[in-house]
Amino acid sequence: MFTGIFSGGVVKRALDRDVLRIEVHDLRDFTTDKHRQVDDRPFGGLEGMVLKPEPIFRAVEAVRQDGGSKVYLLSPQGRTLDAELARELAAERQIILICGRYEGVDERVAEHLADGEISIGDYVLSGGELAAAVVVDAAARFIPGVVGKEGSVRNDSFCGGILDYPQYTRPREFRGLKVPAVLFSGDHQKVERWRRTKALEKTARQRPDLVKPGALSPEDRKLLEKIPNERTNK
Ligand code: SAM
Repeated sequence: MFTGIFSGGVVKRALDRDVLRIEVHDLRDFTTDKHRQVDDRPFGGLEGMVLKPEPIFRAVEAVRQDGGSKVYLLSPQGRTLDAELARELAAERQIILICGRYEGVDERVAEHLADGEISIGDYVLSGGELAAAVVVDAAARFIPGVVGKEGSVRNDSFCGGILDYPQYTRPREFRGLKVPAVLFSGDHQKVERWRRTKALEKTARQRPDLVKPGALSPEDRKLLEKIPNERTNK
C-alpha cells in the first residue's frame, strides 16, 4: 500500500536524498503462533475483529530507537491532524505510526504504548495505512530540505495562519479568463499586497474560523476591513 504513494513527488526525493527514512513493518512478523495471527474476536461478544496487543507492543519495541521516538496510533478518535501537529511531528527524530484495521485496536495500545492518537478527520477509514501516508506527507514537508524552496512551505495554507494566495501560470488568457494584471506590473510591493489581500479575502470567505482578529497584524486588519463581508463557505 505504501510503495505507490511514496514512489514519487516530494517524499520520494526526500527519501533519495536521505533527508527522510521510512520503514514499513508487517505486524505478522511480530507474532509467535503458527498462523501469524494479529487479530481476535472482541470481548463482550460483538461483531468483527480487533488487532491484538502483543504483536503491536513487540513491533514497537523492536523498531523504536533509543533516545527520542514518539509512538502514535492512527485512530478516528485522536487529535485531528493540522499544520501545527504536522510541524511538531517533523521535529521528532523518529515517529512510529501504528495502523489499525477491522474494528480497531486493543485499547491497551492507546493507553499504555502510544504517546497519542492521530486522526486525519471526522470520518472512518477501513484502515490506518492511508491515514499514516497522509501524516508522513504532511509532516515531511516541514523537515528542512524536503521541499525544494523553503518559501513555498512558508506561504502554504495554514502556515501563516491563513490560506495561500491564488496562483496563476501561463497562458495569460484562457477562454477569455485573464490573469490579474497586477502580476505583470513588475512592482514587487504591489504584488505582495495584492497576494496578501487575496489570501485574507479567501480565508475570510472560505474559512472564517481561521481569521482571528487578535492574530492579525494592523496592516492585515486594514486590508480585511476593505474586503466585502461575504463569509459563506462556498
Ligand atoms: N471502530 C473504530 C471507531 O469507530 O473508532 C474504527 C475502526 S477503523 C474501521 C480501522 C482503523 O482505521 C482504525 O483502527 C484506524 O487505525 C484507522 N482509521 C480509520 N479512520 C481513521 C481516521 N479518521 N484517522 C486515522 N485513522 C483512521
